[in-house]
Amino acid sequence: MQIKNYMEDLVWQRLDDVIATNTRACGCEKCRYDIAALALNFLPPRYTVTDQGETYTRIKSLEQQFNIDIITAITHAIQIVSKCPHHNEC
Ligand SMILES: [Zn+2]
Repeated sequence: MQIKNYMEDLVWQRLDDVIATNTRACGCEKCRYDIAALALNFLPPRYTVTDQGETYTRIKSLEQQFNIDIITAITHAIQIVSKCPHHNEC
């Protein structure tokens, strides 16, 4: 058994799609992690106890519930990170 924040999985699932549609976004490893961390700070954590095998349906229902919030949070995070990516001097 373990405790897991499903919101992390949902953000990672969406991250590359949202970066791909946002021309200002840098898709390097560092920026992707910065964007994911920031987006997770905007979203409510969703902790669940997981047992192997029964996780998928829960992720699916959470995904539908939070889909728009997740995309909004990632887009917001991209705007912030794009202003000052860590691999640039600013
Ligand atoms: Zn970058």
